[in-house]
Amino acid sequence: MNLDNLYQEVILDHYKHPENKKLSVEKDIQVHHLNPSCGDEVTLNLTLESGRISNISWEGNGCSISMASTSIMSTLLMGKSPDDAKKILDSFMELMQSKGSAKGDELILEDAVAFAGVSKYPARIKCALLGWMAYKDASLQVEAKSK
Ligand code: ZN
Repeated sequence: MNLDNLYQEVILDHYKHPENKKLSVEKDIQVHHLNPSCGDEVTLNLTLESGRISNISWEGNGCSISMASTSIMSTLLMGKSPDDAKKILDSFMELMQSKGSAKGDELILEDAVAFAGVSKYPARIKCALLGWMAYKDASLQVEAKSK
């Protein structure tokens, strides 16, 4: 099995068995993001407690890339401090902007490196980024509220 097939498996697995895909009752903030070019949508709940992301949960509909990416994002950021989450987010953004030239840092991105190939397809980058942008929006709103 080559790397592309392996990555395809990771994405399909998260699409079929998404993590944290059930909106929590408690939340600090809820955001709703759309990717009109593909028809993907995500609603994301974020809760911070003692300087950590104590919960990220989501609900959504869309293509396998958008749903799998949101699922992987939720597992990666759960329990992290907002600063660590930002490092992971920045690393993923960088990968998506690489136009297929980067492999992604597996130590930081873990399963999210499976989306490296997506960066060659501008139309699909928005799919892969949807959940991550929802998190970014939610975290900025929580930060603004706490000031
Ligand atoms: Zn999509």
